[in-house]
Amino acid sequence: MCERPLRTPGTQYLVEKAYRENETIYEYAQCLDCFMEMHEEISPESQACIDEYFEKRINFESRQLLLRDGINSTLNVDDWLAHCVVTRMPRSECIDYTAYALCDGPRLVLCDLPYIVSGQSMEEVVSLLSTSTRDRLTEFNDRYLGLPTEYMDIPRDNLVPGLL
Ligand SMILES: [Zn+2]
Repeated sequence: MCERPLRTPGTQYLVEKAYRENETIYEYAQCLDCFMEMHEEISPESQACIDEYFEKRINFESRQLLLRDGINSTLNVDDWLAHCVVTRMPRSECIDYTAYALCDGPRLVLCDLPYIVSGQSMEEVVSLLSTSTRDRLTEFNDRYLGLPTEYMDIPRDNLVPGLL
């Protein structure tokens, strides 16, 4: 969390925003350097489990084809955000979900991102993490996000940031 200005064109950064019943629970942006740094908190074993989980369930090929063919007129980013990228559950049926996006200055970058992950999938992903990885990410959460107390009754397992 380097405080670098992110709106400057040419600066790439990730935005993560968690919702519950359409209310924002937390939201933050971080530059790619800080993202990498945070990712070092995740043990290689946990990372391998996360990668395997997503690889098995997500097919980004159709997005990549759309992007490659440059069919910008038919490209509707809202469609990408209409379903959980893992379970395909419609966003309107997700009680909670987390949205991820990559931006470059003021612009949204289209790649595998943006996407949303339902709370249910997040829970599954979190259950794959080692206790020490989970603790380190929770510490990050406490240090930088400081969740409002009314959300403290939400199972914390659902609220682990940085699992892109
Ligand atoms: Zn940074």
